[in-house]
Amino acid sequence: FFASCNPKICVVGSGPAGFYTAQHLIKVCRLHVVSFSAFSSFQARQDAEVDIYERLPVPFGLVRFGVAPDHPEVKNVINTFTQTAKQSRCSFYGNVNVGKDVSIEELQQAYHAVVLSYGAEGNRTMGVPGEQLAGVYSAQNFVGWYNGLPSCQELNPDLSCETAVILGQGNVALDIARILLSPVDILKKTDITQPTLEALERSQIRNVLIIGRRGPLQIACTIKELREMVNLPDTRPEMVAADFNGVAEALKDVPRPRKRLTELMLKTALDTPGEKEQERRNKASRSWGFRFFRSPVEVLGDPDSMRVVGIRLAVNRLEVDGARAVLTGEVEDVKCGLVISSIGYKSVPIDPSVPFDSRKAIVPNNMGRVQHVSGLYCSGWLKTGPTGVIATTMNNSFDTARSLVEDIDSGTLDVSISKPGSQSISALLEKRGVKPVSFSDWEKIDNAEMKKGEASGKPREKLLSVEEMLRVVQT
Ligand code: FAD
Repeated sequence: FFASCNPKICVVGSGPAGFYTAQHLIKVCRLHVVSFSAFSSFQARQDAEVDIYERLPVPFGLVRFGVAPDHPEVKNVINTFTQTAKQSRCSFYGNVNVGKDVSIEELQQAYHAVVLSYGAEGNRTMGVPGEQLAGVYSAQNFVGWYNGLPSCQELNPDLSCETAVILGQGNVALDIARILLSPVDILKKTDITQPTLEALERSQIRNVLIIGRRGPLQIACTIKELREMVNLPDTRPEMVAADFNGVAEALKDVPRPRKRLTELMLKTALDTPGEKEQERRNKASRSWGFRFFRSPVEVLGDPDSMRVVGIRLAVNRLEVDGARAVLTGEVEDVKCGLVISSIGYKSVPIDPSVPFDSRKAIVPNNMGRVQHVSGLYCSGWLKTGPTGVIATTMNNSFDTARSLVEDIDSGTLDVSISKPGSQSISALLEKRGVKPVSFSDWEKIDNAEMKKGEASGKPREKLLSVEEMLRVVQT
């Protein structure tokens, strides 16, 4: 026999993890209990109510602020998230910074369960001297800048140098290289911000080096992103042939996706291009290339301007199994005026009451159940660490939702006592002067952005500050 009160669940963060967790909870909770009632004479039905709390006034996390502006097709997941948000049993509370405006403990008191899905908002640092110089940025801030993340709008990077160095060879590094080198006419049709477009129009960057500590067989990007680089108009690839010694021979033992990726790299680096491609490369005004077996040792600065003028790299060799790069003792200096470290995002703790594994930078969990705290769950990058695409995040979020439903099922999670849910949290927020933004408020912002974009032939012109967003909500 089920008590008739509906499970009230809140989700912290409205990125893919938050939305996919909410979607599954709303769907599964209903189906599950209906199927139970088929075996009993009671018609008890529990419909989960899910409230999503988001720090920013706008939803969708890295789909809005991470995914590259020239990848609009990836952002189509927003349509599914919007359908979830519009369900009567789902509510969105934007502009609520959990851990600051309201504590996790308060949320736990108000809801039967709390799911933490707040992503990975910190970044790994290189830990080398000179990292603080002007002209050195984390990928996270640089991506946030071109995608309109309010906290990154002061970045205003100086693009007046010829060479940019990106440390890291994952998809984020390639997104950044592509944005730095793409013809502005292509980017003009995307939702990249206007200040970024203007900066890119003035940019003097002609050469982008994408640096990895290991070799071609260990590169972390996927073939789609590499292909985009290879075909990028007005650019030519410039690789170091010696970096590929022995790679072709090693290919027979690697899994198929990596084999295809490496073959494309080998072809780009070593094959003599056909006539047409050669002509294209000769005409290109910009270049890009991977540099392998290099780790940053020091960012070199001009002592007067305190701006970056180069980077010192240690030369590595790989241990036999390729798993580890070891220093050879040799170093090499590369002249550059911009350094972007793309060596990984990192989750941060937002509330001292929540267990946090600082070494792995995740909330320790078992299938999404936060260890040692009943009623607390996690999903997305906070659960797994900052790797994987949206589809990976979707699967791990569905897993978390499944764990939660199992716990309701087994009685491990007690949902028999009625909980106040958003009612009590709204009262707390009002007392604290915090005005949440609803999903229909977001739709006002969405409309304003799309209208602003229309004038310049863009899908949208993002509002760049929280104040501006809130002003639109209030009109
Ligand atoms: P996030 O998307 O970061 O969402 C977390 C949310 O929590 C954010 O909205 C944040 O504002 C909110 N939040 C944070 N702190 C708080 C707080 N204290 N209170 C309330 N809310 C809070 N995947 C693809 O499939 N294709 C791509 O092209 C692609 N491009 C990418 C490009 C970049 C630069 C990056 C970094 C990732 C990319 N990914 C891509 C991966 C994809 O973005 C992630 O898999 C996914 O966004 C992770 O989802 P998440 O919900 O865990 O985190």
